[in-house]
Amino acid sequence: MRRITLAALAIGLAISGCTKPKQKSAPPPPVYSVRPNQPTTATVAPRQSQRSPGDPAWAPRGGRISPRWTTVVLHHSATANGSARTFDRFHRDKGWDELGYHFVIGNGTETPDGFIEVGSRWHKQKHGAHCKTADNYFNEHGIGVCLVGDFTKTRPTQRQLAALERLVEYLCARCSIPPDRVVSHGAVTHKTACPGRNFPMGSLRRAVAASSMPYY
Ligand SMILES: [Zn+2]
Repeated sequence: MRRITLAALAIGLAISGCTKPKQKSAPPPPVYSVRPNQPTTATVAPRQSQRSPGDPAWAPRGGRISPRWTTVVLHHSATANGSARTFDRFHRDKGWDELGYHFVIGNGTETPDGFIEVGSRWHKQKHGAHCKTADNYFNEHGIGVCLVGDFTKTRPTQRQLAALERLVEYLCARCSIPPDRVVSHGAVTHKTACPGRNFPMGSLRRAVAASSMPYY
């Protein structure tokens, strides 16, 4: 079942973002302050037999993956509805250059449930604008994935979680990111509840760790 699309966001006149981070020449050693958040008895989601590790729909245009990526940072939108297009508008309204995330996974409101939208940043292999820290490490080197929903109040849908698992497995394999570097926004900054207490971080990490997807 194809749920993936190249949802290139229409890019008009890009606003020069006041929050645009500076490029660094080489990734510094990752600095994490991530709390252990892995219940020991969570059930790992059933694995699909059909996978497309090199799915070109998730590959950036041109196919080149930057060596900058060391981390996947997970978010919720903290809204009931949404899509990449909507969040792109929100972020531009805040003065950012474009959608801050690299991927958005829909919940059936503005895009189909479990539908993965590829943001324009990913196609450009451009830094994110989704996880601010003093050194901006996680914007420079973190792939930002946002699930539509407010998981302080509700839970991600099964289709969202299935899509997220496949996407994160792909990203970890393609970018050689170990599962323990799949982190939540709040665990990095300690300044937000994102992606919400109902987000199943532990089971996602275990599923990624158990992935048979080959490293490239
Ligand atoms: Zn967040």
